[in-house]
Amino acid sequence: MRRYPLDSADRELITLGLEVLAKNFDDGVYNHTVGCALRCKSGKVYAGVNCDGNHGSCAEYITVGMAISAGEREFDTIVAVHDKHLNCVIPPCGNCRQMLFEYCPDIFVIVNDEKGRLIKVKARDLLPFAWEPVVVE
Ligand SMILES: [Zn+2]
Repeated sequence: MRRYPLDSADRELITLGLEVLAKNFDDGVYNHTVGCALRCKSGKVYAGVNCDGNHGSCAEYITVGMAISAGEREFDTIVAVHDKHLNCVIPPCGNCRQMLFEYCPDIFVIVNDEKGRLIKVKARDLLPFAWEPVVVE
């Protein structure tokens, strides 16, 4: 799996994810515990939090949905964060990996490597042998 270094824009994305989380975290019911920031190829950035509930949605789903609703179709980099500690980045769950693979397999996903260092990888590399939708023409 190819690994890519973070640049300053990626670090700003992490900060944005932490900001949206701090603004919306609800410790009364322990809801909105994950923040996400997404940079689109247009340069626009979106940030959202997860929604808990019977069938809650991950922050990645919410944020990609926000971007799509705003007309975005091409995505550059995404990150999810769960607290303001130094090692705050969390990897996407299996369901989100599948969604990212289907929408944007070449999106960069910021994750921690085995030693806790921040790196970027392509979404397609996070889900080998992924299920692919059948395109009917
Ligand atoms: Zn998820």
